Amino acid sequence: MKCSRQLELSAAERAFLAPAAPDAVVFCDLQGRHPEPHVATGVETWGGTWWVHWSDCGREIVKKQRCPGQADHGCLLPLGHPGAHSYQLSRQRLINA
Ligand SMILES: [Zn+2]
Ligand SMILES: [Zn+2]
Repeated sequence: MKCSRQLELSAAERAFLAPAAPDAVVFCDLQGRHPEPHVATGVETWGGTWWVHWSDCGREIVKKQRCPGQADHGCLLPLGHPGAHSYQLSRQRLINA
């Protein structure tokens, strides 16, 4: 089960993440009941891969290495994420910006 907590993005966050965040709301991609922060919306750019991290205390967009996952299945979460790999939870596409 995915966590799927929601976060409403600010206009600036949406602009940064576009086109990976066409909607004003993103959903956490980690497995349920994980330690904070929540993680959503990996965006690949020339400068690296960025994720929205948030908790009850705040939020930020951070650059991290992508989880290597397994050969045939790319994991869409950052390296060292808690819980299951994204391909074990759902099929989602990583959008290349
Ligand atoms: Zn979460
Ligand atoms: Zn993973």
